[in-house]
Amino acid sequence: MPDTSALSRRADATGRPPGPGSVPSRSRLWLEFVNTDAAAQSPGGDLLRDFDALVSWLNAQAALDEERSAGIRRRALLQPAAAAATLVDARRVRAAMRVLAERGFTTERVRDDAVIEINRVLGRSAGTRRLDRHPDGGYARSFVPTGDAFAGLMIPIVESAAESLATEELGRVRRCADARCYRVFVDATKNGLRRWCDMGTCGNRAKAARHRAKERPLGVRAHRVERSAEHR
Ligand SMILES: [Zn+2]
Repeated sequence: MPDTSALSRRADATGRPPGPGSVPSRSRLWLEFVNTDAAAQSPGGDLLRDFDALVSWLNAQAALDEERSAGIRRRALLQPAAAAATLVDARRVRAAMRVLAERGFTTERVRDDAVIEINRVLGRSAGTRRLDRHPDGGYARSFVPTGDAFAGLMIPIVESAAESLATEELGRVRRCADARCYRVFVDATKNGLRRWCDMGTCGNRAKAARHRAKERPLGVRAHRVERSAEHR
């Protein structure tokens, strides 16, 4: 049995976040995947508009290497119906992952449904696991499907959702506080009070709106009603 306390001490020495309570700050593949849908992209539309776009997206996210991407594209040309069905399935997984991201933490039933969906995907493809070193020096685990390569495309997505469930990170998964924004993210802040997907866009918009709300009562201050004006 591994001595986990020694392991976490070693992790501390390397500058990695210390053991329990630490919150990983990197973005999560499954949440990025959810953020490709038409709601999150509005008015840009669905980023997974066709099978080729799905392959490109997975490749850009390093969930699929160049060689496999090329192989999968070749096969899609030969089997367009299978490729189309794979895209439909990818969108189904994405819809299930959105529900998990938005309501999974508060609703047990939603988590149970997500687990069924995750196991549906995990259970249909055999493959090998690998650990690879990235050019930037980091390491990443990957899953290389053997057999039906199309069936394996969603594995990295559901693996990352499984990780969020297993590490109890779900309580840190949020939808942006801007009602017009459907993007989901992991709140990795220390105090857990992050509200917007991006401070540069939605966060700034909210700040500007608060600023305008503060400015508005100025005109009526002369009439000594600033208190009631603040509640407008
Ligand atoms: Zn947002």
